[in-house]
Amino acid sequence: MFLLFVLLALIFTLLVISITRTLLLMRKKDQTNLPHSLPDATLAIEKLQRAITFRTVSSREEGETDWDQFNQFAAYLAEAFPLCEKHLKLASDSPYNLIYRFTGSDTKAQPGLLTAHQDVVSANEDEWTHPPFAHTLEDGYVWGRGSFDCKLQLIAILEAFEQLLQSDRKPKRTWYAAFGCDEEVNGGDRGATLIAKQFERMGLSFSVVLDEGGVVSENYINGIDRPIAVVGVAEKGYMDTLLSCSREAGHSSTPQMPTALGKIAKAVTSIEQSRQEGRITGPVASMLRNIGEEAPFPFALLFLNLWLTKPLVKVIFSKNPTLNALIRTTSVPTMIQGSDKSNVIAQSASAVVNTRILSGDDQGSTLKHLRAVIADEEVSLTLRRYDNPSEESPTTGEAFDLIKRTISAIFPEAIVTSYLMLGATDARKYQQLCQHIYRFTPAQMDRSEVQRMHASDERIHTDNVQKAVAFFLSLLESW
Ligand SMILES: [Zn+2]
Repeated sequence: MFLLFVLLALIFTLLVISITRTLLLMRKKDQTNLPHSLPDATLAIEKLQRAITFRTVSSREEGETDWDQFNQFAAYLAEAFPLCEKHLKLASDSPYNLIYRFTGSDTKAQPGLLTAHQDVVSANEDEWTHPPFAHTLEDGYVWGRGSFDCKLQLIAILEAFEQLLQSDRKPKRTWYAAFGCDEEVNGGDRGATLIAKQFERMGLSFSVVLDEGGVVSENYINGIDRPIAVVGVAEKGYMDTLLSCSREAGHSSTPQMPTALGKIAKAVTSIEQSRQEGRITGPVASMLRNIGEEAPFPFALLFLNLWLTKPLVKVIFSKNPTLNALIRTTSVPTMIQGSDKSNVIAQSASAVVNTRILSGDDQGSTLKHLRAVIADEEVSLTLRRYDNPSEESPTTGEAFDLIKRTISAIFPEAIVTSYLMLGATDARKYQQLCQHIYRFTPAQMDRSEVQRMHASDERIHTDNVQKAVAFFLSLLESW
């Protein structure tokens, strides 16, 4: 009886502490941010449409990229943004990268860097409603490969520069813009890698780097009506592992089990059925705090009391693929190979597993996990590629405040928060030059729109083109 009483008293105390904390930490929506007036974007929309017609598809295979498309794209940009071309363009080490410098009124202030990439992933024309490399504007959307990833960002940055030049305005500090040519190749060394080397040689370092990244996301978390603007402050690491197995083949008319392919298939299934331990790392903890402060009470209670609710948050996040990827290292089989004839048993079989690594894990811990899950000595593991998780940028300070403020001015309804980027961007290439690297694309959309990126029917609403230009104008003039 006494024990029950103690237990009830303990639960009651925890509840009182959690509710009090929640009420103290919850914030009313910030009303100090006046919406920024939106510029005319007719020209920017037209320029984005034209930009899409250049097939700047990058390829990992040497010789497969049509570099002439990049030359034509650069020539088009020179014509569409004549003042940027004349006053801001710098010579680049690589003929296919583009670099601009807009000298600000305060030349003593450390410069900032805005980045995007020119290249796009390929597109299978048959799967598209409108041709992927055409000049289509329909239902209020600019359609085509690169409309969102990443020519929106590139055109919006140049349009903001051009509009300032046209009206004889200057940014406060000096801003650089850099557009690489191989972001989609994932680890290529012609694009941002060379740009970063060039900046290093020029003796530059940056007060802030802003690359593509999270968007203003609608329905990001079920039950929270307000859109959530997510600014990437770190990126997960990347790893490819080859699983291989060799066995006596025999004849397919008298099979002997298990086969090499059977063993690989079993390994692949085991990987799919396992998961690595969930952890709430810095960027996700700050995201939960930011959302909790402005979300409805039940979410606030959950997100602002992680000291008590962490296990529950992990269970909830694990049920949603996007949120799950925020709290653990994920591994997924992506390629498999056996025999190339239907009546021949493969003597050797293989599969590739792609892993996205949460900060705190590395190749060693991941290989250990995979080995334990596969639990078969005959399946060998070879590391094919490995990139560390990125450094973590601070979620306080002037640079982050600037981005938050600018987002609130253009998207006044949004809750603004830091988060962990799940994909890889060019941003990490600038780690030596800047400690304040953020990843954000100024566009508001729901998950179905985001998922068109790298898939068929990629498109961007014209309202978002206008807001993207407004975002960069506001950013350039306010810091
Ligand atoms: Zn991109």
